[in-house]
Amino acid sequence: MRLRNTTLASGCLALAITCVNSGCAPSPAPAPDSLQWVTSAESDATIGSETRLGTGPAGKILHYGDFASAADVPEFVQLSEALATGSRVVLAQRVWRRNTQGRNAAPELYSGVVVVDRSGAQPRARLADIGEIGHSGPLSLQIVAFPLSDSASTEFRGDVIVPQGGVLDFGIAIRQETWGQGGGPVEFEVSLQDGGDREQTLFSAAIDPDAAAPPGWLDQRIDLADFAGRRIRLRFATRRTAGETGFSLPIWSDPVVYPRQRLDTRPNIVLVSLDTLRARSLGAYGYARDTSPFLDSLAERGALFENAITASVTTSPAHMSLFTGLYPVRHGIREGLQRKAPHAITLAQLFRGAGYRTAAFTENGYLVRRRGFGDGFAQYTENVGETLKAPGEARRTFGQARRWLKANAETPFFLFLHTYEVHSPYDPETPYASLFRSDGEPGAGNVAVQGARDRYDREIRIVDEELERLFAAIAEAGLAESTIVVVTSDHGEEFGEHGGYQHGGAVYEESVRVPLVFVGPGRIPGPRRHSTPVSLVDIAPTLLELAGVPVPDGLDGTSLASTLERGDTPAAHTIVTEARATKRWLDPLRHVSWNPPLFAVRRGNSKFIVHRPASGAAEPMLRFDLADDPTEQHPLTIEPDAERAVDAAIDRYLRRSTAQPEPGADVSPKLKERLRALGYAE
Ligand SMILES: [Zn+2]
Repeated sequence: MRLRNTTLASGCLALAITCVNSGCAPSPAPAPDSLQWVTSAESDATIGSETRLGTGPAGKILHYGDFASAADVPEFVQLSEALATGSRVVLAQRVWRRNTQGRNAAPELYSGVVVVDRSGAQPRARLADIGEIGHSGPLSLQIVAFPLSDSASTEFRGDVIVPQGGVLDFGIAIRQETWGQGGGPVEFEVSLQDGGDREQTLFSAAIDPDAAAPPGWLDQRIDLADFAGRRIRLRFATRRTAGETGFSLPIWSDPVVYPRQRLDTRPNIVLVSLDTLRARSLGAYGYARDTSPFLDSLAERGALFENAITASVTTSPAHMSLFTGLYPVRHGIREGLQRKAPHAITLAQLFRGAGYRTAAFTENGYLVRRRGFGDGFAQYTENVGETLKAPGEARRTFGQARRWLKANAETPFFLFLHTYEVHSPYDPETPYASLFRSDGEPGAGNVAVQGARDRYDREIRIVDEELERLFAAIAEAGLAESTIVVVTSDHGEEFGEHGGYQHGGAVYEESVRVPLVFVGPGRIPGPRRHSTPVSLVDIAPTLLELAGVPVPDGLDGTSLASTLERGDTPAAHTIVTEARATKRWLDPLRHVSWNPPLFAVRRGNSKFIVHRPASGAAEPMLRFDLADDPTEQHPLTIEPDAERAVDAAIDRYLRRSTAQPEPGADVSPKLKERLRALGYAE
């Protein structure tokens, strides 16, 4: 690979908007002082764990879903006529094998050129030609086809107005599906067209996809300061330089022009989700152990919500509620294997639409990009371990986020960070083994359970240290005053307080109450503590309002911006939490089948727990007064009128289910049943 930046010279510039390749759209209305995308095309490409939006050949997804085993994968896939214009197509399969908990290992990629079979009514391609999967257990499979172009070159153009001190950022790569296919080196060239026929080359570099280890995304920055105030036309071209018979698919990530000196005064937003972190295990929420000294100090600097309640005690639905401001009944993800309803719009989509850079760093599992979690993120990095039983990777994930924010300090950004570090298995690093040992502590109870608590607490200390490093990186990048950071979690964890363990099958406070802290110097005065119950669905409208991005109509959440900025008491509202796991862990080694769903309905200090099984007898409704009985030990009697009112509230909640996904849209009932039988429960 070689990289070369040519010197810029000024020239006369063209005005028209041109779009050469399909999949490319004219740039949006220019905003000279802020971020402008050169193209709004959104093809995406995954290299390793990092997926980016960009401009380049777009694959057609032929299948994305699950099979009970490799034997169930069909021999052929159907191709549309548009895909089968030539005699060959590029076919790629990403295979995620499932472990016994129904969770994915890191994907394996099989790809190659396949001859189009025209012997039947519809053109088709033989999957086995690109590799035998050979696996007895359940798997997820994505099959993508790319039309194979005869042309050795690609090109697109976009017009932008260059701001004062303008720079052009973009990344280049060869799609991983076409590494090692004999395509030979590819030249990437960015040029600037002036009013005549002349062009100046701004950048050229080559990548060889046949190298032993081709590079992933290569980020580039070009100074456009000499063209400030002018509208310029940029041309992005690639050319294969060798390999008559081979092929490769080059792609450009997110070309964007913006001023080097930040003129946009809107805040950056950093949203941190520390999966499975219950509020009551943090010092700021009254825990006796010093698990979270840094997070506790954040509460002194910003606003802390003492009663932040999740919308679901399962990872995927809770995070989608965090992303959309909608309850699970409305965004459509109520269990782990579902897909976001198309009408549900995410924070990342709204921020990107408002000119924010967007990036996510997440770990194993349930925040599957293709199921809607990646929507709107220009960059989505999933650190997937060998199995989802692998311990969390907060060190790695937070490290990536720190590097990203340092490189993107000049434009407003929305950064999402998510780690499973405190999720089971509780497996803290060895140096932490001496922390929080409860040996001999009076009332420690079950030794195995107490040991699990100790390890969980050590994991909290690890993420607390990573939070501190994140804030240090924000300060080092000069962003402390311009960045709002939110720290929360998707649900808590049970350690036998009500007979259960882990999470997913109960809605007591240890499962539903999560940390929620907002920090934003100059914007969010602190310290302030708010005791009014708020929901995870309130976070999305709050962040949008704080950033000045219009909040969509019809969200279930209510913005807390005036509470944060002026200290107003949040409006009281009814908060609903769902639990839909089919298993309940009764001790760390044993679980029982359970007939969901279960709901918690919170109004002020009053809490009701309602069982609404699809079949069979319901358990009696429970009521607690959390002011007198915060650990829910003494259920109170329920007047018939109150019971009817709570039932009516659940009915209203369920009737809002306009977003119910097609049952089994991407998961066969057979597989679903099988995963459940295998113990599919978070
Ligand atoms: Zn979770």
